Amino acid sequence: MQGVFDPSLEGGRAPATLHVRGADLVATLEGGAELTLPLAGLQLEIGGADGHVVFCRHERHPGRVLHGRGAEMRALLLPHVGARDAELLQKKLRDGPRSLWMPIAGFAAALLLTLWLLSRSAGLLVGMLPFSVDQTLGSTAKPLVLADATGKVVTEPAVRAPIDAIMQRIVASSAMPALGYDLTIVRSETVNAFAMPGGYVVVFTGLLEQIDKPEQLAAVLAHEWTHVTGRHGMRSVAQSLGVIAVIELALGDVTGVLGSAVELFSLSQVRSYGRELEEASDAEAVRILARGGWDPEAVAGFFETLAAHSPKSDDSTALAWLSTHPSHAERVAAARALASRPEVRALRDSAPDAPKVEWAALRAALGKTGPAGEENR
Ligand SMILES: [Zn+2]
Repeated sequence: MQGVFDPSLEGGRAPATLHVRGADLVATLEGGAELTLPLAGLQLEIGGADGHVVFCRHERHPGRVLHGRGAEMRALLLPHVGARDAELLQKKLRDGPRSLWMPIAGFAAALLLTLWLLSRSAGLLVGMLPFSVDQTLGSTAKPLVLADATGKVVTEPAVRAPIDAIMQRIVASSAMPALGYDLTIVRSETVNAFAMPGGYVVVFTGLLEQIDKPEQLAAVLAHEWTHVTGRHGMRSVAQSLGVIAVIELALGDVTGVLGSAVELFSLSQVRSYGRELEEASDAEAVRILARGGWDPEAVAGFFETLAAHSPKSDDSTALAWLSTHPSHAERVAAARALASRPEVRALRDSAPDAPKVEWAALRAALGKTGPAGEENR
């Protein structure tokens, strides 16, 4: 375990490989970048929770700390240090006294831990807010997020009605069956769908054109709806803004977080909520499909359909959903494995029939709602 603390690094720290080159101790980062400290004048301290970590710093580089563990650091540094440091490496390192915690590294570690705990607790604190806060934030953010979509909202019943039928069944099969949803269909080539806190769902026609079957639309909408009921967007906002923002939200003031919420849900840049929450949403989407009467395999099928339509990588407008939801083979496999589990099959067996949606009719109606048609509306 070797690494470096430096103010220039994102998060203030990074793993690195340490080695000696010429007159320098060099830390090579994962991307190949290097941070160095001169061997002459190197200041060594021994610390770490178990007293086996060597911290190296130099007064010419305040804030920069290269560190590594016991024997490998001893082997690396012993040929290059003076008698006093050599004794430190040979004697103190073996003894591992906690009393020699280097103040800077100790402070940095404590600061990082505090920041991490604060960001974690900000996310956890969301659980203490009433859900009405999500709805207030979503309804306030929606017109700002959709500002660019003016004149592009599709209202044709032939397109909207079947999607509403799917959405209603998803909500009824979800963890919050009584929650109202607010659906907006936007004419755009962007292959995307997303949901904002409180139940505000946005679907782009580009996505509808890529999908083969209604249950695949149900798959992506069930995944997005799980971000709503799991309050993943709220957690994301809270984690990026911290505890104060959550306190403001608790007091009913969304203005402080509105800017970052709008940025988070901007049309061009819909983000992933992190691997853990994405996998949880995949799994819940599989169950929602089964409870809603659809084939739960459609979650895996949806990923495969999107990937199969994937254009060349230089097409940045297309397949936004896939790029923010990486379609790893293991993700497809996980969704498929869950769909075939007996308890999921049992959910489907006791479910009502899925809403009847004529996909070809929806697609045909979509083709008739061109920009010219919209201008007459
Ligand atoms: Zn997602």
